[in-house]
Amino acid sequence: MEQDLMSERSELPVFVPAYDTEHTGGCLEACREIVRVHREHNVPATFFIVGRLLEEEGREYRELLGDSGLFEVASHTYSHRLFLDHPVCGKGADLEQIHTEIVEGKRLVEDVFERPCVGLRPGCGFETGFRGASGVVAELAAAGLRYVSSQLWGPHSTVPAPLEQAYTYADEGAPGLWEFPGHGWHENVLKGHNATPGRLLLWPPFYPDALMTGYVKTPREEFEVHRFFVDRAIRDRREYVSLVWHPWSLGKFDPDMAMLEQLFGYVAEQGMGFARFCDLRERRCS
Ligand SMILES: [Zn+2]
Repeated sequence: MEQDLMSERSELPVFVPAYDTEHTGGCLEACREIVRVHREHNVPATFFIVGRLLEEEGREYRELLGDSGLFEVASHTYSHRLFLDHPVCGKGADLEQIHTEIVEGKRLVEDVFERPCVGLRPGCGFETGFRGASGVVAELAAAGLRYVSSQLWGPHSTVPAPLEQAYTYADEGAPGLWEFPGHGWHENVLKGHNATPGRLLLWPPFYPDALMTGYVKTPREEFEVHRFFVDRAIRDRREYVSLVWHPWSLGKFDPDMAMLEQLFGYVAEQGMGFARFCDLRERRCS
């Protein structure tokens, strides 16, 4: 896989499938279907898993993801507490709580899967990731994390999230800690699966061609929304594109994962490769 990744590097972005795995209701069942699609297409993925979920269903997740080289398992914090204040999602925890969220979340991934956890995606994500949040960055670096994926929103905490690319937290004192922003529409928002206020759009829009007039109704419509960001990543010569996906929400809307089948097929047709976030981080060691 590493070889594929490198050969695509100069011309085409890679697609990074990533899943915020966070609910006892629905995530595990959906992950079984997601894993089936990934195995059939031989497509790697990063699963960010909440620590509390592993306390309850760790054995099942280990069986599902543990012995495949296709899957990276990273942390989605211990209990999904917010690390910063967020205008849509709520108030941030204090630094002591954040320390526990980081350390316990990482430890549970490592205990359950018996391999290092190098990445973390915080609950909800933020407009500018952890830029300027030196206290949080210091905790992440001290825990031994090598990357985070925390920038998941557009300007003024809107969706879709633009195709921002990787950067380091050198300015916050951690040059070895990388940020890999997520892109596009949070798919749960596309379907009205969360109680979201109606003020999520940016004006003037970042991507006027990708305006939505309502919730998506079919997997095909969802595919069309995500495809825009794949096409745009190619056009803009990005290194990677990664959408913000939640197994519970994907499964509720599309239990057979038809959207994933369509999108992975489309990505492959474009000649693009696939990667996990840990693969993107590894590139930066050489
Ligand atoms: Zn989450």
